[in-house]
Amino acid sequence: MRFDTVIRNGTIVTATDTYASDVGIADGTIVAIAKDLPIEGAHQVLDARKTYVMPGGIDVHTHLDMPFGGTTSADDFETGTIAAAHGGTTTLIDFAIQYKGQTLREAFETWMKKAEGKAAIDYGFHCIITDLGDAQLEEMGALVREGVSSYKLFMAYPGVFMLDDGSIFKAMSAAAKYGGLICMHAENGGVIDVLVKRALAEGKKAPKYHALTRPTTAEAEATGRSIALAEMAGAPVYIVHLSCNEALEKVREARDRGLPTYAETCPQYLYLSLENMNAPGFEGAKYVFTPPLREKWHQEKLWQGLAKDNLQAVSTDHCPFCYKEQKELGKDDFTKIPNGGPGIEHRMSLVYSGGVHGGRFSPNRFVQLVATAPAKLFGLYPRKGTVAVGSDADLVLFEPNKEHVISAKTHHMRVDYSMFEGIRVKGVPKVVLSRGRVVVDKGRFTGNAGSGQFVRRQTYVGLK
Ligand SMILES: [Zn+2]
Repeated sequence: MRFDTVIRNGTIVTATDTYASDVGIADGTIVAIAKDLPIEGAHQVLDARKTYVMPGGIDVHTHLDMPFGGTTSADDFETGTIAAAHGGTTTLIDFAIQYKGQTLREAFETWMKKAEGKAAIDYGFHCIITDLGDAQLEEMGALVREGVSSYKLFMAYPGVFMLDDGSIFKAMSAAAKYGGLICMHAENGGVIDVLVKRALAEGKKAPKYHALTRPTTAEAEATGRSIALAEMAGAPVYIVHLSCNEALEKVREARDRGLPTYAETCPQYLYLSLENMNAPGFEGAKYVFTPPLREKWHQEKLWQGLAKDNLQAVSTDHCPFCYKEQKELGKDDFTKIPNGGPGIEHRMSLVYSGGVHGGRFSPNRFVQLVATAPAKLFGLYPRKGTVAVGSDADLVLFEPNKEHVISAKTHHMRVDYSMFEGIRVKGVPKVVLSRGRVVVDKGRFTGNAGSGQFVRRQTYVGLK
């Protein structure tokens, strides 16, 4: 047997197993996993001594090249996917937004064009539905068949993204019928709108009021309501960017009852807190995203949620806006600050560092949270999300004990600050492969913009 690439002397870590083995790759696919594979004729031999050979990370929540509040997120599909690759992520699922009056297909085609010729790693799309008529309900089935097998709905941002409960229920019913999965932004938008208007009327316009007008109860209420709507529709539901213990409790209760309820959290909720909003001057704007940062005690609850499988995944909600000129749009009014923060590059290191080195879970659980579970829930498995014969050779040679201090000075995201500035992480990617090609080699990008491919995802089968 001949290979294009052989990875030797590594320790393979999957969601279930840890063992020493070589990996043989041909035509971008893993074709052999065994000890002492022959290297004759291989174009490339990678020595994985002292590293874990893990599946490439899957980030199912990113917003590249996304218009918001009169500006556009700072990373496009080129800079964003290159930054993701540096962090060990080899597949992402971004969001194609259907604006009012549009078909879902228009949204899908618009975002396909944004990614084409630019993405350096593989990608898929969820479709954000903001206008749901009978035509769009029909279209949901057609899109599932083309590999867009998940949808995102909003219970917040009335007048922009928010859908009423009846529409959400209809969309969930359609998703269940067609084998799709609904991703839910769960916050009570009606109440938040009133709180925001009240704050502005009282002259409370600083960045921290973004957080103070979006209480945890608003998130918990919507989380519980979305679970109830899904239960009535006989549909699964995936809660995006869960940020607080009250919402986590709703998910835990639903899962204890055996409902197909899933949720992700993001590194910012694990590492940052409301205290960051008190940064000097206008700098709290760097942490304006939705849901907002919470009191510090929620962090440990979320870590425990990840350890105990009440949370199934960690994604980034990467939606970068530069501090200069973009965040500054809201200098006199927090409601004008573009919502979002940069994180696509540091998810793997932050989760490994706090999760595994923090003594909260095993390297296998880490792989499950950042790759395997996202792959299974979103129809990418077993092509992606594991190290197995027949899977794409999307792999990370990960140095579990190497340290790195996160800084905007060294990161690859096209944004002028880091939310995690100065945080020391332990566990960093050394070599990253996308379908067998080395795209990052010891901190250097060696891939190509445009070599990433759109991945047609399978229908929802659950976390089996
Ligand atoms: Zn988002």
